Amino acid sequence: MRRLDRETVDRIAAGEVVTRPARVVVELVENALDAGATRIDVEVEGDGTERIRVADDGAGMSADDAELAVERHTTSKVPDGDLSAVETLGFRGEALASIADVARLTLTTNDGGPRGTAVRVDGDDVTVESAGRGRGTTVDVSDLFYNRPARKESLAAPATEFERISDRLSAYARLRPAVAVSLDHDGRRVFATPGSGDFADAALSVYGREVARESMAVDAATSVAVGDEDTEVAIRGLLTYPSITRASADHVRIAVNGRPVSVPALRRAIERGYGSLLPGDRHPVVALDISLSPQAVDPNVHPTKETVALRAAEAVAGAVEDAVADTLATADLRRSADVAMDLDAALDPVDSAASTLGDATFVGRFRDCYLLCETDGDLLVIDQHAAHERINYERLRAAVESTGVESAPLDPPATRSLSPGEVAAVESHADELARLGFDCEPFGGGTVRIRAVPAPLGRVADADALEATLAALRDGDVAERRDDLLADLACHPSLKAGDELSDDDAAALIERLGACEQPFACPHGRPTVLAIGEGHLARGFERHPRHG
Ligand code: ADP
Ligand code: MG
Repeated sequence: MRRLDRETVDRIAAGEVVTRPARVVVELVENALDAGATRIDVEVEGDGTERIRVADDGAGMSADDAELAVERHTTSKVPDGDLSAVETLGFRGEALASIADVARLTLTTNDGGPRGTAVRVDGDDVTVESAGRGRGTTVDVSDLFYNRPARKESLAAPATEFERISDRLSAYARLRPAVAVSLDHDGRRVFATPGSGDFADAALSVYGREVARESMAVDAATSVAVGDEDTEVAIRGLLTYPSITRASADHVRIAVNGRPVSVPALRRAIERGYGSLLPGDRHPVVALDISLSPQAVDPNVHPTKETVALRAAEAVAGAVEDAVADTLATADLRRSADVAMDLDAALDPVDSAASTLGDATFVGRFRDCYLLCETDGDLLVIDQHAAHERINYERLRAAVESTGVESAPLDPPATRSLSPGEVAAVESHADELARLGFDCEPFGGGTVRIRAVPAPLGRVADADALEATLAALRDGDVAERRDDLLADLACHPSLKAGDELSDDDAAALIERLGACEQPFACPHGRPTVLAIGEGHLARGFERHPRHG
């Protein structure tokens, strides 16, 4: 343990460390992780100002170090004051001191010797005595902000402050699955991860069975150019199928080299990786740890270390987007049907998308709405409308990329009166409109003449589709918008529930769905195929399954 020299202290991004109870938890948990803990137990009372206790089984401290640790700018983590080489979560040597400034703090620690040390800081009083404790460290913080009434006043409602704690701690739990993390609130267990190293186990503990079951592992490695050198990027973690989404993006969690951070560009990259699978306004549940060489990361850009600066940020974002898209494309997105039987069974393991529908045999239909197919171990139920949308969408997308959407002439041409902004958009998006199958031009006096409309796959769109298309085009990023437009266009000429299909048509539909790049969700993100495993049926009928 050493004191940082003045110069290093000055280079450290300064700022108030402790602004709310969740910050205390974050700092103490990061210290525990830096100490190599394999388990971290957190107890919180009330909104966290009453009491926060963090116990770890890490390396602990000697009596001398424990005394030094609570002083400002003392750290064991910055060798030679070289901030560029920092690989630990902490490096500023001020968290314990800052907490001790605004709360009563007791640090009990043992670095493996016969007895441990307890350091108690209460205002200016510091007492040190020996204490019994196994290897590891417990930090007990009570009466937070007792001497900062204004700060205490400014806190949100207790439930909100606790939610922040739970939210931050669960991010560490999800992103560091090799560490067993538990949270207790007012004596009640909130969650506890097993520390197995498996991202799915951590997600199970934090979110429960549904999320864990509807998730798949991400494990990708690639190299990106940072300056003149190539550096490896490894992306590991877990993401949910598009069947599990949340209204808030808070469940998309990212760590860079094991440090949970908020990097909006990376979160957006993840969501781009989902492409059209994600229903609008919804967000997936994702935990990804991105490892790259420490030289490519600057953690010292934010007072509370909540974000980091990346060199080659765009290339890294691209790698993340690809990793997510590839994982989703190769995974089988069939949903396990919620068969109305109380079966405590995990989803049967599924094989890759390509073979699943290729091997399917059409066996019948239900209510002119669902097609039933047999595959090796499963009964598949296909929503014919959703499946047709997916097929149309991919065909349209291919068409737009090559020749544009087919269009049908209107004879006589239609006229529509538009707002000045819409008329301007007709001109500025002329190319895009043409590719989407519109032939139109401003006609004076706020009107537009429409000579041709999209006729995707032989069905002619309405002239009114122009207004919707313009609205979408004016709304922002044209490339991104185009996918939404195609999804809507794909919907119009698609089969409806209740449309009768001949056996041949049904078989053709299934075959074409199987040939899709992403067969298991419609362009709006809803599922196209449900699978009912043979095992589910066997258990439901209390038979012994043939296999599995
Ligand atoms: P920093 O983490 O930036 O070094 P802190 O004030 O958080 O600064 O901690 C000061 C020092 O106390 C750390 O460098 C570390 O050596 C020691 N320390 C703090 N918490 C623990 C812990 N849970 N286990 C072992 N050592 C710890
Ligand atoms: Mg620290």
